[in-house]
Amino acid sequence: MGRKFFVGGNWKCNGTNEEVKKIVTTLNEAQVPGEHIVEVVVSPPFVFLPLVKSLLRPDFHVAAQNCWVRKGGAFTGEVSAEMLVNLGVPWVILGHSERRQLLNESNEFVGDKVAYALSQGLKVIACVGETLEQREAGSTVAVVAEQTKAIAAKVSNWDNIVLAYEPVWAIGTGKVATPAQAQEVHAELRKWIHSNVSAEVASSVRIIYGGSVNGANCKELAGQPDVDGFLVGGASLKPEFVDIIKSAT
Ligand code: PGA
Repeated sequence: MGRKFFVGGNWKCNGTNEEVKKIVTTLNEAQVPGEHIVEVVVSPPFVFLPLVKSLLRPDFHVAAQNCWVRKGGAFTGEVSAEMLVNLGVPWVILGHSERRQLLNESNEFVGDKVAYALSQGLKVIACVGETLEQREAGSTVAVVAEQTKAIAAKVSNWDNIVLAYEPVWAIGTGKVATPAQAQEVHAELRKWIHSNVSAEVASSVRIIYGGSVNGANCKELAGQPDVDGFLVGGASLKPEFVDIIKSAT
């Protein structure tokens, strides 16, 4: 078994050339546990991917924040999975709640994207998570199960998927889920995968937590048995991202 700890940094729509170089310098100088202990993936905006890839230390990897749902072509403004592969970008984040909410990406659309990206050889950080309303209505588990189901329906091999549980109410709000809240949902997701995909995938798939993770709260979250790492937004732009990487040990 042994799920390797995974720390992703989602830079979202932030950064200038100069700022990006500064973040990379900080990461390159950081003393962190080795690649056999923690997998580190940072996700700059598309336009900075080649720059970051060329400057970043070889034990850290890059992810795109999105890609087109099918083969490229006449889709103005989109970036295809083939292009990412062509540039040597190994990972892509799909189904982030900001895209689900602001750009109306449906569960099915996200499922199609995950399947297509995998078919082209990309590894996928697939995001799920409930809104505050849904949590207060008691439908958290149903919502994340439905989102995961739409992915499972399109995918037969989970080896290259990391599932990110990101409660919408915790993203960018400073309101982190408690370790117990995160653990509960992660365990439910693993149970769902056990029943609906397979026991093997349930035990091997990494389920990472995202939503206001920072240098101060990461350690306790990382101690939960079903929390296999983090997807970090705001704090991934700051030096404390290094502390979050270190929470792997
Ligand atoms: P946050 O974002 O860490 O700024 O809350 C997390 C994410 O959106 O992945």
